[in-house]
Amino acid sequence: MSTHEGKQPVQEAKCCGVVEEAAMRSRERREKRKRKPMPWILLKLTVVVTAGIIAYAFYVYIGRLCVPLIRRDSGAIGGRATGIGFLVVFCVLGLMMIWAYEKIVFTSPGLAKEHVQKSPPPEVNNAVPSWWDSTRDLAGTPYQYVPPPDANGAAPASAGLHGHSGPAPPRDVNYDDNAGMLDAIPPVTEARTAQPNGSGKPLPSAPNGSSPRAQLPMMYTRKPSATPLLRPEHRYCYKDGFLKPPRAHHCRACGTCVLRYDHHCPWIGQCVGARNHKFFVIFLEWTWLFCVWTFATLTANVIRSGTRGDDIDPEMIVIIVLSGLFAFFTAALLGTHVNLIVHNQTTVETMNSQRMKEREKGVLARMHAWYEFGAKRRTRKQWDEEWGRIGCEGNLWWLGSYRANWEAVMGHHVWEWFLPIGRSPLDGLSYPENPRFDAEGRWRPRSEWLPELR
Ligand SMILES: [Zn+2]
Ligand SMILES: [Zn+2]
Repeated sequence: MSTHEGKQPVQEAKCCGVVEEAAMRSRERREKRKRKPMPWILLKLTVVVTAGIIAYAFYVYIGRLCVPLIRRDSGAIGGRATGIGFLVVFCVLGLMMIWAYEKIVFTSPGLAKEHVQKSPPPEVNNAVPSWWDSTRDLAGTPYQYVPPPDANGAAPASAGLHGHSGPAPPRDVNYDDNAGMLDAIPPVTEARTAQPNGSGKPLPSAPNGSSPRAQLPMMYTRKPSATPLLRPEHRYCYKDGFLKPPRAHHCRACGTCVLRYDHHCPWIGQCVGARNHKFFVIFLEWTWLFCVWTFATLTANVIRSGTRGDDIDPEMIVIIVLSGLFAFFTAALLGTHVNLIVHNQTTVETMNSQRMKEREKGVLARMHAWYEFGAKRRTRKQWDEEWGRIGCEGNLWWLGSYRANWEAVMGHHVWEWFLPIGRSPLDGLSYPENPRFDAEGRWRPRSEWLPELR
């Protein structure tokens, strides 16, 4: 009896062990498959497809539109001069686009593995307060409701600015689970003073020996991410096994870490990163011009044939549709990338700012009625005065102006912004850091900035 009772758990344990092991194996296999980069041939296939589309556009535009015009065929609409004009503009734009395409396809974004040595994973530093939770997403938990000051306390500093004498706590307030209460003192200050070897200075407003928390009015405030982005544990790539240079990210399609990773672009068969971002923008510029010209002239031609009652060339319709679609697509992409560059952000980095802005919207909606647009604007302005703007002063890589950011990526001369020659001014390995951040990459409030930056 006792032996039987004794056997049962062992068998169960064995059975569970087998299931667990199988599950673990299949999880490992899945992970391995995920880690595997895309096969080279698939990665580059789109380049061949893109080249095919360009060649077809050349054939239709020159063969079906320009040649009949220049030959003065009976069915042609317009004269020889029009034909030559169309051909010249089309060829100039087309060749510039092909040149830029060749440059972006063959310019590496910069790979981290070519510059850093393999190293063991860094030890995680637990010296920060427990609520300083770095496992949260990079945008952090930016806003928090903090109860208004007690009866004899001063009115919140913000009262004059947004017309609230301490907003009453709404019922559906989303309290942060990792901090309990937060006051008007930005968390960065507190953590810096809390760190044993921190460089933090005591707060000027806090009398000696007393907690600064008790001294300051409480209110809603901006709470930027507390993730120390520059610490080794946040810069280690476990897939490649090395410490990534700042702003580098691992591309799953390419299977490696890319310097100042922006995104993986299937149209060029590789990543857009530090050393080819500039050429990507130049390629978009010429592609947009090429598509707009092709779309406009072919559409005008088709409309004129239609009004004359001639047959409409279906191949022209195909190119009109394709050039229209690509004109739209490249215009949107070009707008996005110009905006990214003037803010000195990558697609990855801007997601964090975007997320923070979304949360801000949610908090403003709790603070104000939906129609109080002016009050919302004033609150946001006040937060900007306390902290600086999200994505600008609140961006670790902000260089101080749109122009400085633009020139850091595109070069100092205007011709460098349009001609696909030379090299990118970025080496992708190091970047000047925004002095509004602490040494580990956390955003500090305006009150802690150097006097000349305030
Ligand atoms: Zn990596
Ligand atoms: Zn990639």
